[in-house]
Amino acid sequence: MSQNKSFSFEFFPPQTAEGMEKLTATRKQLAMLKPEFFSVTFGAGGSTQERTLETVLQIKSEGHDAAPHLSCVGSTRENIRALLQTYKNAGIKRIVALRGDLPSGMASIGEFQYANELVSFIRAETGEHFHIEVAAYPEFHPQAKSARDDLLNFKRKMSAGANSAITQYFYNADAYFRFVEESRKLGVTAPIVPGIMPIVRFSQLARFSDACGAEIPRWMRKTLEGYGDDVESVQAFGLDVVTQLCEKLLAAGAPGVHFYTLNQAKASREILQRLGYHA
Ligand code: FAD
Repeated sequence: MSQNKSFSFEFFPPQTAEGMEKLTATRKQLAMLKPEFFSVTFGAGGSTQERTLETVLQIKSEGHDAAPHLSCVGSTRENIRALLQTYKNAGIKRIVALRGDLPSGMASIGEFQYANELVSFIRAETGEHFHIEVAAYPEFHPQAKSARDDLLNFKRKMSAGANSAITQYFYNADAYFRFVEESRKLGVTAPIVPGIMPIVRFSQLARFSDACGAEIPRWMRKTLEGYGDDVESVQAFGLDVVTQLCEKLLAAGAPGVHFYTLNQAKASREILQRLGYHA
């Protein structure tokens, strides 16, 4: 990958001390590739608030840039204000600002309805302190009224003060190219970084994809289904397909790639190495 492309890795906050230890080992391997930052997800409704903070602080203490995700659904201005202050005090400079999805059983949507409101709030409270990333959906958000509405909502979120966007994962490069083109026509000039999901286990991928509306193209699904329990073949196929996807995206001008690592180093590292990037 050429020098002017950036890449980053996403983790989820582990629930146990053992998970935390494993993630430290994962991070060590990925840190050798010198990513721009590591991001850490946040359970909507604040369910992982402490663990997200703990993981982010650990990353920071190892000398890397850490970006906490922050979802606003089910939360209050007071909570978000306090969390922003904690991150600011800890020297965090980047936030991934999201609406999130209301966890089942949680009745109140809280004081923020959409991510654009959170972006405006962060800017109003903390000025230009944070680099704000938001989510983008090349295959459109599952709850969007229409493709056009989703694009306009994305534009609204960028205009509220976001600096750049990371996309939901996808395996159809044309969906990304089209999304970027349409966003540019609406006047969005900020980088839109493709989110990349390496393929490690098909059943897990199929579950995620059904939930978030990311399409697994039929030719891929059929091939992966055909491998059954043959994990080696699934992973070999996944590495080929996802490396080719990254090559295509980067060659056509994508500013970098963001890996959904699922706290595993192997696949993301192998893809980057195949792209010519070595530690
Ligand atoms: P929004 O931008 O608010 O959009 C949500 C829906 O509402 C869309 O359909 C949009 O078209 C519509 N909409 C937006 N604004 C308006 C408006 N003003 N009026 C009417 N309609 C509107 N979830 C987590 O819980 N934790 C995480 O850490 C997390 N990390 C993520 C990271 C990335 C890179 C991505 C792509 C997703 C992540 N998610 C995470 C999932 C995300 O929270 C869900 O997809 C959620 O359903 C939408 O969040 P959003 O910020 O995109 O919402």
